[in-house]
Amino acid sequence: MITSAVDELVAISPRPEPRSAAVTDPDAVVIGAGPNGLVAANRLADAGWSVVVLEANAVPGGAVRTAEVTAPGFRNDLFSAFFPFTAASPVMGDLDLPAHGLTWTHAPAVLAHPLAGRAAAMLSRELDATVAGLDQGADGDGEAFRRLFADWTAMSRPFLDALLRPFPPVRAGAALTRTVGLTGLRELTRLGLMPLRRFVQEHFVGDQAALLFAGCALHADLTPEASGSALFGWLLVCLGQQVGFPVPVGGAGAITDALVSRAAHGGVDVRCGVRVDRIHVRTDQHHGSAGYPLPPLLPVLCAIQYETRREVAARRVRDCTQVACAAGWGGSAPS
Ligand SMILES: Cc1cc2nc3c(=O)[nH]c(=O)nc-3n(C[C@H](O)[C@H](O)[C@H](O)COP(=O)(O)OP(=O)(O)OC[C@H]3O[C@@H](n4cnc5c(N)ncnc54)[C@H](O)[C@@H]3O)c2cc1C
Repeated sequence: MITSAVDELVAISPRPEPRSAAVTDPDAVVIGAGPNGLVAANRLADAGWSVVVLEANAVPGGAVRTAEVTAPGFRNDLFSAFFPFTAASPVMGDLDLPAHGLTWTHAPAVLAHPLAGRAAAMLSRELDATVAGLDQGADGDGEAFRRLFADWTAMSRPFLDALLRPFPPVRAGAALTRTVGLTGLRELTRLGLMPLRRFVQEHFVGDQAALLFAGCALHADLTPEASGSALFGWLLVCLGQQVGFPVPVGGAGAITDALVSRAAHGGVDVRCGVRVDRIHVRTDQHHGSAGYPLPPLLPVLCAIQYETRREVAARRVRDCTQVACAAGWGGSAPS
C-alpha cells in the first residue's frame, strides 16, 4: 500500500527542483522508519525528492530489528525472522539491497515438521526432494504437489506483482488474467475463500502435506478452518519452494541497515527518537486554522500501525484537505 501512496504522490506532484538541504527543507515527511516507511523514503528519493523520516523509537526498523537481548555476543531477531515475501517482492528487488550490504542465507531445508517414527514433513528447495518426501506420506501426494507448484510457477510473476506492487493492480491483474484465464481466476477466488482443511482434503491424503500447508497458514494466525487460510498456506508453501525462506546474514536488522544505508545514500534524513503526535492539515497556503504560520504544503506519508495512524489522524485539524506538516519536524508547527 505504501508504494501506491508513493507512486500517487510522484505522479500528481511536479518533480521538485533538486534540493541541497534535505534536513531543513524536505519535499516530504515519512512517519515511521519500519520497512514500509524506509521503502517509501527510498522510492521518493529515487524520484528526486528530499525526504525526512521521523521515527519514534531510538532506532529504525520497526518490527524488522535484531539486538543482543539474551547473552553477550548473541543477537536475536526481535520480531520478524524469515523473509520469503521480501525475497520475492518486485519492489524490494528494484531497490537492489545486496548492493547496500544485504546478504541472504538459507537453512539446509526450508522447513520441516518431525513426525514420531515416520519421515518428517519437509519442504526442500529441491522440488524432487519435496515430492519424494510427500510421497512417503501417501503415494501420489508428491505428484499432486508437483502439479500445484507448476500452476504457481506459471502465475507467480503476475500474482506477486498484483499482491506486492502498487494498488490497484490494474496491469498485474490483466497479466494474471491472461496467464490463468477466467477459469483460473475463478479457482483463485475459490482458493481465497476456502479453509485450508478443505484444500488439503481436495489435493492430498497424507499427514506430511497437511502439516506443511497448515504450518504455513498458521503463520498468518489463521486456523485450518478459517476462510482464507488455504490461500495463505498455499502461497507460503509455494514461495518456500520457489525462493526458500531466506534470512539475512546478521539477522533481520540487516534488511533495515541496508534500507537505511541506501536511503542515506539518496540523501534521506532518518531521525530517530521523534514521535509524531499530530498532523496539521490546512486548505490555505499561509495559515493554520488557529492562525499559526505553517511551512509550505508538505506531503506526509504515514507508514505506521493502523491504530496509531487513526490516533494521530484523530488529532489533526478537521476542516482541511491538504497535509501541511508534521509535529516533530522542524519545530514550525504549533504544539
Ligand atoms: C512478532 C512479529 C513477527 C513477524 N514475523 C514476520 C516474519 O517472520 N516475516 C515477515 O515477512 N514478516 C513478519 N512480520 C511482519 C513484518 O514485521 C511487518 O509486516 C513489517 O514490520 C511492517 O512494516 P511497517 O513499516 O509497516 O511497520 P512497522 O515495522 O511496525 O514500523 C512502524 C514504525 O513506525 C514507528 N511509529 C509508530 N508510530 C509513530 C509515530 N507516531 N511517530 C513516529 N514513528 C512512529 C514505529 O516505532 C515503527 O518503527 C512480523 C511481525 C511481528 C510483529
